Amino acid sequence: MKKSALVLFSGGQDSATCLAWALENYERVETLGFDYGQRHAIELSVRPALLKKIAPLRPQWAARLGQDHILDLTLISSISQTAMTSNIAITMQENGLPNTFVPGRNLLFMTVAAALAYRRGLDVLVGGMCETDFSGYPDCRDDTMKALQVAINLGMDTRITLATPLMWLDKAQTWHLAHQLGGASLVDLIREESHTCYLGERGTLHDWGYGCGTCPACVLRARGYAGFKANQTQ
Ligand code: ZN
Repeated sequence: MKKSALVLFSGGQDSATCLAWALENYERVETLGFDYGQRHAIELSVRPALLKKIAPLRPQWAARLGQDHILDLTLISSISQTAMTSNIAITMQENGLPNTFVPGRNLLFMTVAAALAYRRGLDVLVGGMCETDFSGYPDCRDDTMKALQVAINLGMDTRITLATPLMWLDKAQTWHLAHQLGGASLVDLIREESHTCYLGERGTLHDWGYGCGTCPACVLRARGYAGFKANQTQ
C-alpha cells in the first residue's frame, strides 16, 4: 500500500476532486500548482480557499493534508502560443485539436511533479487527466500516462505511481465521485470555490459554479453538473 501522494492541484473541479480522493486514500498528501502563464490564472488564486476548506470536511483529511507547493513553469507560454496562454479566440485546429491544447503540458507537469515527489519522499502522483469527456488532448490519455510512469521511473530509478482516478469518468460521474467522497458539503465547496472557466470569468454563480457559461470548459462542467443532479433526483 502506497502511503503518500502529491496531487497536481490547479484549483479546478477535477483536481479538487482528485485532492479529496487522495485525502481519502493516502496517509500524507501534498499539493502542487503550476504557474504557466495560463489565461485563467484566477484558478491559482482559488487554491488557498479550497485547501483551507477541504481539510475540515473529514477529521482524517485535516491530519493528512500537508504542504502546498507552487512552481513557476511560465516557460510554457514562451514556447507555445495557444488560446490557453494568450488572448486569442478558442478555435479548432486542422489536426482536430482545439487551440487550447498546450503541447507537452502534462508531460512536463508530471515530470516536474515526479522530481518534487522524489525530493519530498512521496510515492504517488495524482492527476485529473481524463480520456472520457475531454477535447481529445493526447497528453491526457491513459497510454500516455502509463508510458510516462515507465519513463519517469527508469529515468529516476524510483517506483512512483501515476494515479488518475478520473481517467474513465465523465463530468457527471466526477461530480458523483465528489459526492461519494465528501457528501453535499464537498460538492458545494467544489461548486463554489473551484475554477474551470478558460476565460477566468467569476462574475456570476450558476448552479454548477462560477464561469462565463459558454467556453468549452464551462459547457462541460455545466452539462456534467446537470447530469449529476438529474441522476440524484431519480
Ligand atoms: Zn467559461
